[in-house]
Amino acid sequence: MSITDRQREQAVAGLEQLAFLARAQAWHGEGIPSLPPTQAGVLRMLAATEHGLRARQIADRLGVSAASLSDSLKTLESRGWIRRRADPGDGRAALVNLSALGRRQVARLQHPQRGLASLLHGLPEADVAALLRVSQLLVAEAQQQGLVTGLRTCLGCRFFRPYASGNAARPHVCAFLGKPFAEIDLRVDCAEREPADAVAAAAMHARFQRVDAMTD
Ligand code: SF4
Repeated sequence: MSITDRQREQAVAGLEQLAFLARAQAWHGEGIPSLPPTQAGVLRMLAATEHGLRARQIADRLGVSAASLSDSLKTLESRGWIRRRADPGDGRAALVNLSALGRRQVARLQHPQRGLASLLHGLPEADVAALLRVSQLLVAEAQQQGLVTGLRTCLGCRFFRPYASGNAARPHVCAFLGKPFAEIDLRVDCAEREPADAVAAAAMHARFQRVDAMTD
């Protein structure tokens, strides 16, 4: 059965309301001003990297312009939450890292009772798993449309084998880890991710979208 325009509009309205809520409530309380989504995104991204990132990489993953990111980085730097140092691989380039103070702010940002995390708190596992599944598909679509690049979802990773285990409880396989995993363990930001080539990515995407693929 195909989706009607009205049903699609309702789904879009839901996403927009959540995006607005995230912007408005991102980081209220504790005497800290609301943190704009780009700044929050930079902090979360840096927290998930070991050696830091170049500004260009951050801008590409967030889907923002270099100029917009530059303003955010200046603000975060002025608060002492990030620092820049020369890239050991290229002395002309700089890597952006979290400072110790920045790591403390990220811990507050990621607190399970704050921001969007607080909305997920009461959801059962199946619903969170469904959200992770949809996130994979939406991120893939955003990348296909050229809105962002370099995001690190399972879908599109060369190690991802959707519905390859034959195990209903843990249907997917991560070839990097060499083991099956459940839908709830789908990763939206995985440091080990490596992009699949275009042909493999298209086949993977098609299989991931087939809800009956597990019985193949
Ligand atoms: S390496 Fe990471 S992104 Fe790739 S399939 Fe495994 S868990 Fe997913």
